[in-house]
Amino acid sequence: MGLLVVYAALLRDHRNQTFEREYVQLEITAHLSAAWLRSSAETAAGERCRTRPSEEACQAWLEDLAPPPPLLLTVFDAAGRVVARLPPAPDAWQTTVDHPVVRHFSLSDLRSLRFRSLSPIDGVERFYVIYRISQEDHFIVVGSPTLDATQRIARRGLLLGFVLLLLCGLGYLLLRRHRAVLSAEQRLRDQRKALEGANARLRESERRFKHLFAGAHGIAIQGYHPDGRVFFWNEGSEQLYGRAASDMIGTDGLALFPDDANRQEARAFVDRLLRGEQLPPLREYRLLRADGQPLYVLTHHVVFRPDDGPPELYTIALDMTHLKALEAQLRERATRDALTGLWNRGYFLQQAERQLRDARETRHGAALLMVDADHFKRVNDQHGHSAGDAVLVGLARRMEGSLRDTDLLGRLGGEEFAVVLPRVTLAMALQGAERLRQAVESSPFAVGDLSLPLTVSVGVALWPEDGSNLDALMEAADRALYAAKERGRNRVVHLAGP
Ligand code: GH3
Ligand code: MG
Ligand code: MG
Repeated sequence: MGLLVVYAALLRDHRNQTFEREYVQLEITAHLSAAWLRSSAETAAGERCRTRPSEEACQAWLEDLAPPPPLLLTVFDAAGRVVARLPPAPDAWQTTVDHPVVRHFSLSDLRSLRFRSLSPIDGVERFYVIYRISQEDHFIVVGSPTLDATQRIARRGLLLGFVLLLLCGLGYLLLRRHRAVLSAEQRLRDQRKALEGANARLRESERRFKHLFAGAHGIAIQGYHPDGRVFFWNEGSEQLYGRAASDMIGTDGLALFPDDANRQEARAFVDRLLRGEQLPPLREYRLLRADGQPLYVLTHHVVFRPDDGPPELYTIALDMTHLKALEAQLRERATRDALTGLWNRGYFLQQAERQLRDARETRHGAALLMVDADHFKRVNDQHGHSAGDAVLVGLARRMEGSLRDTDLLGRLGGEEFAVVLPRVTLAMALQGAERLRQAVESSPFAVGDLSLPLTVSVGVALWPEDGSNLDALMEAADRALYAAKERGRNRVVHLAGP
């Protein structure tokens, strides 16, 4: 808009100047014409053109005159042929101009004539002053631009200005567009860079995840589809289960369970997890290795729900087999006597209490036997402590063999043992004790080359008659045992009454 205002002002100014210039030029034309008339007779060039109007002479003369632009000088001969022209117009040279005014002038007696006409040479409209310059009817025409011509020039200027303005506007628009394109390109470049950065970070994170998961030694990680099919099986899983990923991918993960019951239980657990239930995530499973060996694992389950797909179940499993074995060993140690393998004192007493509780509930009788090896000190003294140990182990086996599966046998310490006989009467208890005593006495114990005879004394106490609780029963059985020793050993004694 600003540009338009400036342009309009310039145009107005230009028009005013055009009027002024035309007026001045008309004046100059007239003035020059007069000056020429005066000087033409005086200069040599003028003299030459006037007396012998050759092309060279007249052209030289015109150039001597040096009219200010945009004045136009043309010398014609009587036939209307162009002899010289300034500015030079080689195309017009020697052409014959058949102009009615020129023809009229040549036939008249006039010395000069002013007229307005389109130039037959270049088509521009001008004011002309025509003079006679020689006897041979040579004329000179002085041309000066008319208002129309200047207006056309102005119009051309206007058009040119408009075109320029249009070009400027167009240029401005193009520039803006170019700038917009540049900044859009820059934004695109920035976004692309940011995207590439994010992609790189994502790739790195995925690489880290894969490296961590796939290569984690000792930690088995598996991925399962909701239907239980395996889709991820890392190195740790290959080591733990003894099964290659290539064998497992696509197969049913539940096949790892040893039986249907376990399979169903695991399936139900997974279904609940997939439904979104909050469950304790740590679970212990007994599974099977490829070689059929049992495998204990502690597992942690994670459900991952992708934006575009079914949920994925990840299981992280730690091998617990060696820990299980250790646990079993510890339990064994805690309950078993290291030498004989019988229940140790603590576990025996604990189980004996249970038996008495059962007896109370079922209202069946029960008996407690206290067993002590006779003169065992002698075995040690005569054959050494390790021979004594071997005899103790043999004794334990023999006593075990004489008892029912439901009977409870423990080593209380040294060469002293105890037995609980559940669901027995006194007669049955005495019978059982006698069977045990006889089993020990029946044959000597073979220890290396030695053959070592041994007997035991047994004290019997009956629940509930001889004691209503374990302590009381043990006391009663102890008293009976003491009596058996007193009475000569290798015998079974039950003391009647309290
Ligand atoms: P009795 O009971 O018939 O009166 O005579 P005894 O020789 O068995 O006497 P006592 O019960 O007092 O002695 C127990 C002996 O058993 C003492 C110890 O040398 C031996 N003994 C106890 N524990 C062990 C053991 O773990 N290994 C071996 N080799 N001997 C043991
Ligand atoms: Mg003894
Ligand atoms: Mg003893």
